[in-house]
Amino acid sequence: MRETIITVKNLTKQYQSELAGGIKDINFEIKRGDVVAIIGESGSGKSTLLKCMYGLLTPDRGEVNFNAEKVKGPDEQLIPGHKQMKMVTQDFSLNIYAKVYDNIASQLPNTDLKAKSEKTLQIMEHLKILPLQHKKIVELSGGEQQRVAIAKAMVADTQVLLLDEPFSQVDALLKNQLRADIKEIAAETGVTVILVSHDPADGLFLADELLMLKDGSLLQTGKPSDIYQQPKHIYTASILGNAVVLSRGDAEKIGLKTFKQFVVFYPEWAEITSNWSSRRFEVKDVYYKGFYDELLLTRNGVEIRALQLNRGAHKKNDHVQVNIGRFLEF
Ligand code: ADP
Ligand code: MG
Repeated sequence: MRETIITVKNLTKQYQSELAGGIKDINFEIKRGDVVAIIGESGSGKSTLLKCMYGLLTPDRGEVNFNAEKVKGPDEQLIPGHKQMKMVTQDFSLNIYAKVYDNIASQLPNTDLKAKSEKTLQIMEHLKILPLQHKKIVELSGGEQQRVAIAKAMVADTQVLLLDEPFSQVDALLKNQLRADIKEIAAETGVTVILVSHDPADGLFLADELLMLKDGSLLQTGKPSDIYQQPKHIYTASILGNAVVLSRGDAEKIGLKTFKQFVVFYPEWAEITSNWSSRRFEVKDVYYKGFYDELLLTRNGVEIRALQLNRGAHKKNDHVQVNIGRFLEF
């Protein structure tokens, strides 16, 4: 078992605004070396949680422990923030007219100049930005800037990297590359990464551990695949996999029986096939999704969505046989 590096206990922080945003009674643990993704909609309290963990905000109740020691709040120390953690925010906080090398080296003391340059070069090599060392930040792309920001955050023996919406400034292609990079950096350096994002794809792609946040409360924690397969809330299934949600009455109209209130399934659980349990649906629309189609289907006035891997096989107004192999009940 790997050791616990961070423990969050009964953490509560409510803002005194009319909308009463914040976080409520949050509990979880983080293992050293894990990549943890905290996923929630905008306003769900992600940044508040990160700031409390880093020591930039004083919680109303509860505490955060780092290596079994309480993280101090901003009024308990001269320089807010934890020495062995670093937070990288959306704006990267780089000196845009300074060179890449100097941005990173600025984090190290001048007491040992040889060590300073060695460490700076080493982290740049690790993050594959060595060739950029003499460039100014303004001359870099968004993705390159992000790597520099991470290098800067990691150079001074950082144990935990806190990333607030790290992929929000970059385009889709680069996003996939950066997600993979972060995973690789964590694996190679052993640094613990905690990232928050409103995009569930970030959590599903790269996290060892996923935390679902809604309206300041923690809904579920666990391995991404477990949460995806066994969501405890309809909300989670909707966010993670754009699930189809049917009332009991509607479910019955398409042949799904439940004693609970709702039936929920992901489009990929609805299979176009003609076996004994399949039912006839009409194709109302076809959405192009790249290497597959999503079909909007109706039967007895109930709409569902299903995947069509064999792209173009069925078109609008066609009739298809659908088998919903698996569904969840809530
Ligand atoms: P997220 O990062 O998930 O978008 P935040 O943690 O920034 O969410 O904010 C959570 C909620 O708290 C939001 O409703 C936001 O409006 C509110 N909030 C955040 N910071 C403050 C503040 N300094 N004062 C008052 N309300 C705030
Ligand atoms: Mg935020």
